[in-house]
Amino acid sequence: MDCIFCKIIKGDIPCAKIYEDDKIFSFLDIAPANKGHALVIPKEHYETLLDAPDVVVNDLMLLVKKVKRALSSSLGAEGFNILINNKKVAGQLVPHLHIHIIPRFSNDGVSLNWKPKRYSEKEIDEFAEKIKKFI
Ligand code: 5GP
Ligand code: ZN
Repeated sequence: MDCIFCKIIKGDIPCAKIYEDDKIFSFLDIAPANKGHALVIPKEHYETLLDAPDVVVNDLMLLVKKVKRALSSSLGAEGFNILINNKKVAGQLVPHLHIHIIPRFSNDGVSLNWKPKRYSEKEIDEFAEKIKKFI
């Protein structure tokens, strides 16, 4: 399969690796929002979060916590954002599930802001009713 992250895992493409075990892998994003911006990925190829088995999601999130702690200890990150883009429409450029971990510092100029949309009266409750039927 022509997947850039599968190639990185295999070692066919170099990366700045920070963690690897038999199931999961972590390395630094080549175009970081802040220096130290890391990606956590499963070694098995799944496109999105919904495609991955729960046990894999669990392993990924445990590694996110470890990486977050390491970013705080090594770089002095005061906070962090975690982000998963699922599908092209949501900004997913690499179709191999990955979790972004962006270390945050005061006044770092990183912006993840969106312009809020507005609900009309009662519309927020109608949306909640519609959505919760499928949970
Ligand atoms: P997405 O938009 O799919 O959520 O994010 C993909 C991320 O992968 C981007 O932030 C991009 O900079 C990073 N990326 C793409 N190709 C490479 C690569 O070859 N090496 C590394 N280290 N990061 C990559
Ligand atoms: Zn892949």
